[in-house]
Amino acid sequence: MLRAVIFDFDGVIVDTERFHFQALKRVLAEEGIPLTWEEYTQAYLAMDDKNCFRAALARHGQAIAPGIVDGLSERKAHYFFGTLSDAVALFPGVEGLIREAAEKYPLAIASGARREEIEFLLGKVGLREFFPVVVAAEDVVRGKPDPEAYIAALGRLNRLISGRPVRPSECLVVEDSRHGVAAATSAGMRCLAVANSYTPEELTAAHLVLKSLEQVDLQQIIEALFVR
Ligand SMILES: [Mg+2]
Repeated sequence: MLRAVIFDFDGVIVDTERFHFQALKRVLAEEGIPLTWEEYTQAYLAMDDKNCFRAALARHGQAIAPGIVDGLSERKAHYFFGTLSDAVALFPGVEGLIREAAEKYPLAIASGARREEIEFLLGKVGLREFFPVVVAAEDVVRGKPDPEAYIAALGRLNRLISGRPVRPSECLVVEDSRHGVAAATSAGMRCLAVANSYTPEELTAAHLVLKSLEQVDLQQIIEALFVR
């Protein structure tokens, strides 16, 4: 039975991956490291910024001096906010799904993005009120594909819920990345993947893959994932 819904953020709710890519690419270029979109989606998308920089520096044989990763992450956040256009786009169908789900279930976000980015963007698109729990990069030690972010989000939701705690198998996760799907399924949750960033063929580890959230309602998702 479905009892809670946890959303990834970038690539599921807001169409921001290209802004993250541009900001990351700019910082890495300043460090002498090239980055293509293909490399970004294959190696870095879904990682939090610090793990991105650690991985990129290691891949290119650069030393990781103390404090350097924090400095690069700060610079990337600065560029990210600078490149955000005024109209941040929501993905088709996601606002309807959030509003529909919020009527019946507690909602959370579990993301590798920085808290200030998530809070800023949620406020901008008018969806902040629907998420009593937001787990951001600062809240976890191990980023996706580790399940920590999803387990932490459920733990926080359970502190808000009275009665029997929600089990992982009673959670629906909405993800767009391969690492995110791996995180959700290893947390023991039911995962719907939406092919906003990857092809459906790359997301087959999810329990259900859709090209868009536009043509589906919550009841259809429940029937596909929770009713046997
Ligand atoms: Mg994502």
